[in-house]
Amino acid sequence: MNKILQATNPIWAEVQQSLQKTLSKPSFETWIRPAKFNCFENGLLTLIAPNTFSSDWLRKNYCETIEKAAKEICGHEVKVVFKSETNTSNDLINEEKSNEQNSNYKKRFLSNIQNNSSKNQFKNPNGLNLRYVFKRFVVGPNSRLAHAAALAVAESPGREFNPLFICGGVGLGKTHLMQAIGHYRVEIDPEAKVKYVSTETFTNDVISGIRRDGMTAIRDKYRNVDLILIDDIQFLEGKEYTQEEFFHTFNALHESGSQIVIASDRPPNQLSGIQERLISRFSMGMTADIQPPDLETRTAILQKKAEQEKMNLPRDLIQFIAGRFTSNIRELEGAFTRAVAFASITGLPMTVQSIAPMLDPNSVGVVVTPKQVINKVSDFFKVSTDELISSSRRKPVSQARQIGMYLMRHGTDLSLPRIGDEFGGKDHTTVMYAIEQVEKKLSIDPNIASQVQKIRDLLQIDSRKNL
Ligand code: ADP
Ligand code: MG
Repeated sequence: MNKILQATNPIWAEVQQSLQKTLSKPSFETWIRPAKFNCFENGLLTLIAPNTFSSDWLRKNYCETIEKAAKEICGHEVKVVFKSETNTSNDLINEEKSNEQNSNYKKRFLSNIQNNSSKNQFKNPNGLNLRYVFKRFVVGPNSRLAHAAALAVAESPGREFNPLFICGGVGLGKTHLMQAIGHYRVEIDPEAKVKYVSTETFTNDVISGIRRDGMTAIRDKYRNVDLILIDDIQFLEGKEYTQEEFFHTFNALHESGSQIVIASDRPPNQLSGIQERLISRFSMGMTADIQPPDLETRTAILQKKAEQEKMNLPRDLIQFIAGRFTSNIRELEGAFTRAVAFASITGLPMTVQSIAPMLDPNSVGVVVTPKQVINKVSDFFKVSTDELISSSRRKPVSQARQIGMYLMRHGTDLSLPRIGDEFGGKDHTTVMYAIEQVEKKLSIDPNIASQVQKIRDLLQIDSRKNL
């Protein structure tokens, strides 16, 4: 019954259409579009949000708006309830698409950047980098929650998520995301006083306050804002006096209802050398972390970058870079830039063959053959080559196969579909999944790491023979 309703019920589609006209694009794309119709019975409309954060946010902020729109469409009272879909592995492509559609709202910013316009009226007014906008942020499973929280805070600052504490490793997008909040806030409310500051700058200001300018100057500077974005808070560690001043700044801002957003390379409870009272304040709003992106997200980030830079990189080169640079996005972007620069300087074609050696000069790279990988993996794990390329799901076989795919990715210039062919006609998504599994295991399972290293060493010997 529900299934039929799901396929044919037009109510939610119509409500969405109507809300699309009244809500801002990012709000619509982040909250309303992803909510899926579940059922509509006896005036009760049940919707499914992608995660509990979204369902809570919808319940608190959009319930009435949706009910009102539904009432207009149906001609009678409608109640709406929200459930959440705990499965977070939503289709990234959809997410990416919605992110894409979501984002025309900052055309002005982008055209300013692209034209490199000198009369850019948005030129860094609040210490914000113009590139760090929501439009340029690719949402993946690793950052979905942090992205939703950031948007929630930009829409409704100074409410329950105060402070918003964004944490995650180096180069994973914390600064980008926090600055996107600032840009979007100014977009919604041009009068809003937004300030982005690194902890280092704050510390220097406190020091010069003590030495020269006096503390009143600092208080004027930092307490008279509606939204403060304070980056890399871990650098407060061990700085007693700055912590003292920050504590009072925090309290003053919080009491006056200003929104505070903090970024850190660790969650609050892992910061050491910071006063307990500050740690407890950091934790009193919402903490959202960003994890390292998976292969698919890294690929999407590079694709977006290529689009933005109007560079036409072949798909397998993008996949090669995404497969090779796994730890952080800054490095990933660096490799992309080097590839583009290298090709333009040397005039060499943009192919994996010509670009790969320069991205990673020590790689055994393009000199081992797929056959060598298959044979070496088969010898090493004592699994026959026939089994290796079969569809057997026996654990030792599938594990060896995954490692084989991983090594082929890193040791040859084959694209994902070609690697799939080498392993008996597997789909490229299977290959992508296998590589990701090995990447995950490499960081947590020393046994696998040492096996991979050993086979790699053996391949290196083979690769020299090829020369
Ligand atoms: P962090 O502050 O966590 O060290 P940054 O925010 O400085 O990292 O991000 C490093 C680089 O990677 C920046 O150029 C940023 O634009 C880019 N980046 C990070 N995350 C994403 C993402 N999800 N989508 C697109 N670009 C990203
Ligand atoms: Mg940063």
